[in-house]
Amino acid sequence: MTKSSNLGYPRIGEKREWKKALEQYWKGNIGEQELQTELENLRLYDLKKQKDLGIDLIPVGDFSLYDHVLDTAVMFGLIPERFQHQDEKSLQTYFDIARGNKDAVASEMTKWFNTNYHYIVPEVSSETEPRLVENRLLPYFLEAKEKHGIIGKPVLLGPVSLLKLAKGYENKDFDKLVEKLVPLYIQVLQQLELAGAEWVQIDEPILATTLTEYDINVFKKVYQSIDSKLSSLNVLLQTYFESVDHYEEVVSLPVAGIGLDFVHDEGANLEALKKYGFPADKSLAAGIINGRNIWKDDLNTSLTVLETLRSFVNEDRLIVQPSCSLLHVPVTVETEYELHPQLKNALAFADQKLEEINLLTEGLNKGRQTVEKKLTDQAHCREQLWKSASRNNEDVQKEVEFWKGVEPTREQHFAKRQTIHQNFFNLPLLPTTTIGSLPQTTDIRQGRLKWRRGDWSDADYQDFVEANIKEWVARQEEIGLDVLIHGEFERNDMVEFFGEKLDGFAFTRYAWVQSYGSRCVKPPIIYGDIALTEPMTVKEISFAQSLTEKPVKGMLTGPITILNWSFVREDISEFDVTKQIALALQKEIRALEENQIHMIQVDEPALREGLPLKPKKQQQYLDEAVYAFKLATSAVKNETQIHTHMCYSEFGEIMNTIDELDADVISIEAARSHGELIADFEEQSYEKGIGLGVYDIHSPRVPEVEEMERYILRALKVLDPRQFWVNPDCGLKTRDVTETTEALTNMVKAAHHVREKV
Ligand code: GLN
Ligand code: ZN
Repeated sequence: MTKSSNLGYPRIGEKREWKKALEQYWKGNIGEQELQTELENLRLYDLKKQKDLGIDLIPVGDFSLYDHVLDTAVMFGLIPERFQHQDEKSLQTYFDIARGNKDAVASEMTKWFNTNYHYIVPEVSSETEPRLVENRLLPYFLEAKEKHGIIGKPVLLGPVSLLKLAKGYENKDFDKLVEKLVPLYIQVLQQLELAGAEWVQIDEPILATTLTEYDINVFKKVYQSIDSKLSSLNVLLQTYFESVDHYEEVVSLPVAGIGLDFVHDEGANLEALKKYGFPADKSLAAGIINGRNIWKDDLNTSLTVLETLRSFVNEDRLIVQPSCSLLHVPVTVETEYELHPQLKNALAFADQKLEEINLLTEGLNKGRQTVEKKLTDQAHCREQLWKSASRNNEDVQKEVEFWKGVEPTREQHFAKRQTIHQNFFNLPLLPTTTIGSLPQTTDIRQGRLKWRRGDWSDADYQDFVEANIKEWVARQEEIGLDVLIHGEFERNDMVEFFGEKLDGFAFTRYAWVQSYGSRCVKPPIIYGDIALTEPMTVKEISFAQSLTEKPVKGMLTGPITILNWSFVREDISEFDVTKQIALALQKEIRALEENQIHMIQVDEPALREGLPLKPKKQQQYLDEAVYAFKLATSAVKNETQIHTHMCYSEFGEIMNTIDELDADVISIEAARSHGELIADFEEQSYEKGIGLGVYDIHSPRVPEVEEMERYILRALKVLDPRQFWVNPDCGLKTRDVTETTEALTNMVKAAHHVREKV
């Protein structure tokens, strides 16, 4: 019999109960006991649900109070030095590492592979002595067994990935550290074996990245040691997010089962399997249902793939599962009462994906004919949306077609534009500006809520937004900024705001996914052709411009960011979706120009995070990103100055791409890593306008004038004063009015001081 399995279930609960409980605890409104009871109930509910959905191998220990990488690090005593005097087993220490406390800063947080999930980076030094603090999987395993009679499959991040994701040690000490970790892993596994576990899932997602022969040998050694110390417990070595580059070596590792992703990377794992076969003595856990998207699966095709796999692997050794943990998708479609049925019927979140897995497993075990009707029904649901008017907007499709093979470029070269802009705007040297948003105070958020609830009419809300714009235009003039902004008071979120105005986007009620810690995001769904029906930003921005002689910079979110922060339809290529967004933005930009806005910023903070894991795919992604940005921005008049903004500082490796965007000015986050960024410019020259953030907006601290002056002067050692802009790191929406006013006043002073010196 073929078994069904899951790799991980969303932690947050159907209505974000998890988030709410954690935040109540952090605020001190509930105690630790209450928190634990609440979370236990949620965990047991989710276990039961998976059991009822017919899953044979149910994961345990995938649950976390914050992050699974942090869990693993703490379990093996990898505690940052500044927290080592605290009780290593306490919840306080655990949360302090993740969130910081008044004496010590939190550990760094970074993106989990190519997802929107962020993990806490373990800090390990070459001298670190890992030890087993406690086996956190054991209570989870026992809980599932005692409460629901489930023999769970404990999930654990493997030692190689854990160390590869950690920082703070020298490469030469990698082997030494792995060797110290392995016996501790063995202890954990032996305890689970003794408690009656049959399978354990060891995640080694690093196997889906590009590795060296050396790394592969480390894997061989590690899993040889682990395997030799276990008797009845089966190790399932799990990879996900992409195919594995070293297929033959990976499937030969000495473990009982290998988990592979058969969804991503254009069937590369399947091709490798057909070519090299699969070891007869191993189980194959086949990731066949996409754990990253929200769409119902094409079950007919998936079943065919599984049937192919079964011709290579004995049916008792085949396991059907999602391509990765379901952590990255929302919990259930069921509660989305307000979605259009045509769309709702085409969606599958975590629970629906588990139903699909169950169905496919049944199809294998009892024959295709037993599930035929369900497969046909599902295909019908998918088709309905495919055929719908929303996906067949001829105007949009013709326009995309028109641009095929056409290279969008600005009429004049940058050097020419630079002169035109100088004459047109007549800005001083080192012009001062900001990134777009101004403080989103409680007052502003409440205003929006009143309007959404219907307590305020559209006109009331418009008046309210305009009053805020007016107040802040005056304040910006008083501060002495050279280029003003309207402040984005009308926007809730930089993607949602545009999505709500464009055709082709849908919004859900509860479809949250964890981004980091208790923070969840609710990405919009791009389900249809994207079209602009009326201008989205002109009213507010031209109102701001009407109040001042200084230029007001228009503010838009770029095509790649809108794409990367949404759930995207899959019936057409992502590139085509990006082009549709870009063409809508092109029209918006034209409308802004027609309304006398000649400086327009198109933000692309998410450009870098969409970079594929495999180097061979990166260039294509970057080329497409450049194309989309230019499609949106290059059809403008010569005097129009295009700005862009990005908020990360690993600039060096994508410097070429940034240059190719051909934006007249880029503002970029820099305050926290100033030295490194400047070094990038020593190595490569960059000629266009650039603002390296001169202060960190993530902290409430108001920087001194001299401090920012030093930043500017340091940058001017490498960059020409005629290209340098003075701005903060990012938007100011999370700061308060006083901090913002004081910080910007100091920033303007700093720019004035430096102007006198250069
Ligand atoms: N214009 C946006 C703002 O100021 C940019 C946000 C971002 O970079 N993430 O908020
Ligand atoms: Zn930013």
